[in-house]
Amino acid sequence: MHSTSLIKNHWAIILCGGRGSRLGSVSESLPKSLIMIHDKPLLWYTVLILYKNGFRKFIFPLGYKGEMIESFITKEFGERDFEIRLVDTGLETPIANRLHKVSKLIPEEDDFFLLNGDTFFDFNISEMYQIHKRKHALLTLSSVEIISPYGILVEEDGVITDFTRNEKISHFSLNDKQDKRGYVNSGFSWINKDALNLVDLEACENFEQELYLKVIKMGKACHYKIDGNWFAIDTQKDLNFINLKEGSKREVGEQAQQAKKNLTTRYSYQTRYYSDVNKLKESILNKTIIPHQVEIQPGPLGGEICWLKCPYCYGLSSEDNGERLSPERYVEILRQIAEGGVKKAIYAGYATDPLFYEHIEDLVQVSLDYYQIAGFHTKAITVSDRLVGQLTNPSIVPLSYFSISVDAGTNEVYNKVHGIPNSKAKLYDGVCKNISRISQARANTGAPLDISATYLINPLNHEKEEILKAIHDLRNAGVDLIRFTFPQVPRGYTVQNDEQNIPDRDKVKEYMKNLRPVIEAESTSQCEVIILDLDSMHEIQEPRTLPCFARYIFPCIGFDGWLSHCSESAAPHFRALALGDLNKRDFWDVFYDYDADNFGNQMDKSCQQMNTLGCKCDRKEHVVNSRIKDSGIFNGII
Ligand code: SF4
Repeated sequence: MHSTSLIKNHWAIILCGGRGSRLGSVSESLPKSLIMIHDKPLLWYTVLILYKNGFRKFIFPLGYKGEMIESFITKEFGERDFEIRLVDTGLETPIANRLHKVSKLIPEEDDFFLLNGDTFFDFNISEMYQIHKRKHALLTLSSVEIISPYGILVEEDGVITDFTRNEKISHFSLNDKQDKRGYVNSGFSWINKDALNLVDLEACENFEQELYLKVIKMGKACHYKIDGNWFAIDTQKDLNFINLKEGSKREVGEQAQQAKKNLTTRYSYQTRYYSDVNKLKESILNKTIIPHQVEIQPGPLGGEICWLKCPYCYGLSSEDNGERLSPERYVEILRQIAEGGVKKAIYAGYATDPLFYEHIEDLVQVSLDYYQIAGFHTKAITVSDRLVGQLTNPSIVPLSYFSISVDAGTNEVYNKVHGIPNSKAKLYDGVCKNISRISQARANTGAPLDISATYLINPLNHEKEEILKAIHDLRNAGVDLIRFTFPQVPRGYTVQNDEQNIPDRDKVKEYMKNLRPVIEAESTSQCEVIILDLDSMHEIQEPRTLPCFARYIFPCIGFDGWLSHCSESAAPHFRALALGDLNKRDFWDVFYDYDADNFGNQMDKSCQQMNTLGCKCDRKEHVVNSRIKDSGIFNGII
C-alpha cells in the first residue's frame, strides 16, 4: 500500500488568500502567510516542512495581496524540483469557492492535503496519510492539543483540588453530549477529490460545516490525533509569542532557547527512541508505526567486505554471499524510507565500513534532499571531497553527526588494534587528517554537524600516553566530543586467557579507576572528553534483551540488501530472522509484513529465532528492549 501512493504524487493546497484582519496593522502591509517569524516569512516554514514530509506539488489559491505571495514563492522556490500552481481565486472568496477554482488541478479520485497557511506546524503527515488510506476515507481530519488561554479549576469527585494555568487540553467533554468528547480541529486534512462533489462548492458558505458533516454522516471520515508541533497565528499576541516578544526576561531567555530549539532545531528527534510507550504499542498493533531511524550498512560492490581485520569487530562471524542492492535500487529504497516519514538515517557497518561503499555519497544525498538527520559511524579512513561537502553543507539538519571510531593514538597501535600489525600504513595520521578536513570545512560553512570520536579501550591501547596522545590529536583535529568506553564481546568470539582485544569486567573496573581522572581532566568547553562503562550503567549482562522490538524502532538494511531487525542482526547468517529482500520488495511492504492480529505468536517466533541464531544486542538495543519490557505495556499479549 504505502510505497505505491507516495506523498510526492499528491498536491498540497495551502489556503493563503485571507486578510488576517485579527493581526491588526501587520496585515495592512502583508498577507497573513508572509508575516515574519524570526527572519523568515511563515510560508517559508510551511513549504519546507511539507517538502520534508515528501510533498513536491503545491497549490496556492491566492486572494488578499496575492501578488506578494506569488513573487515570494517564485523567488524562494522557483528553482527547486517543485510543481507550483499560483491561482488567483479572488479577494473575498469563501474557502469552498477557492477550492472549487483550483479543484480541476486535482486528478479525479485523488487525495490532496488541505492546510491553512497561517499555522506553524510539524508532525508526521505521512502517518496521517496512512490512516487515511488504510481506512479508505474520503476525509481525514486531525486534532491537536492546545494550551488553555484560561486558568483551569481542577475538580475531583465534586471537590476542587487544584488551579492551573497554561494547562494542555487534549479534549473537551461536551455539555449536552456527556458520553462524547470534543477535539480541537487543527485545520489540516487529507481529502479525496470525490468528497468535493458532495456539496456545491460555488454556493457553499461554510465549507467545513457543510462538507465535513456530510462525509462524517456517510461514515467516510476518520480522525488523526497530531503528535507534534502546532501553533496557529491569529492575533498579534500569537505573533509576539512565536517571535518571543512576550513574558519576562528569564522567560524570554528560556523561551528563546526552547523556541530556537523548537523552531530551527526541533527536527532533532534525538530524545527517546519513541515518544510514548502507549502510542508505540498502538502504532505497532495498528501498523502505523514509523521507525525512529533506519540504519544503512552498505557493502562494497567489489572485493572483500572489509580489508581491516579488527579482532573485536561485531560482524566478525559474518559470511559474505556477495548479495547487494544495485546503486540505483539503493537510492530508490532510501527515497521510499524518507517519503514514508523516517526522520533519521544512520550510515554504519556491522562487518564493514559505510565509507568503503563506492556510492556512499549518492545515498547521503537522499538524506540531505529529504532533510533527514544523518548520522555516521565510521573509521573515516577514506573520506571523499564530495562527502566532506555534503557533511558540511549549511542545510544539513541539526543534530546530524559524524562519529569516528579511532581506538588508538599512534599509527603503530592503530594497526595492531585493527588487526593489521605488520602494516606500515599511517592510517591513524590519515584519519586525523580527514577529521581536520571536515572540521575545517564546517568552520567555513557553519554547518550544524556534530563531530565526535569513540575510543574502545582494551589491553592493546590502554596505556596513558597512548590515550593522552589520542585526546590531543583528536581535539586539535576539531572533534566536539571524545567518548572512551569498552568493546562488547562479538557473536562467535571466544575470549582468550591472555585476552588482548576485549577486557573482562575486572579489567574494565581497573581501567575506569586508573584512567577516569586522567581522561576527564582533559575535558574542555571546546571538546568534551568522557569515559563510560555502559554495560554497568545499563546493567547489561546477557547477550540479548528479549522480547525484541528493534525492527519497529531502528530496523537495518544489511550489506546484503535485506531488511533486518537491527544493526546487529543484519548479515546473511541471520537470514532466517531477516524481514525481507529489498532487491525484490519495497521497503514499506517488508516493514509492515508482520502479523499484528497474532502479535504474541509473531514475537515468540522471532525471539526463538534470535535465541537459536545467537544475535547479540548493542547497547542501544538492550536499553530500548528493556525499557519497553519494563513498561509492561505488552503484558498479556507477549
Ligand atoms: S541483536 Fe538484539 S536487537 Fe538485534 S535482533 Fe537480536 S535481540 Fe533484537
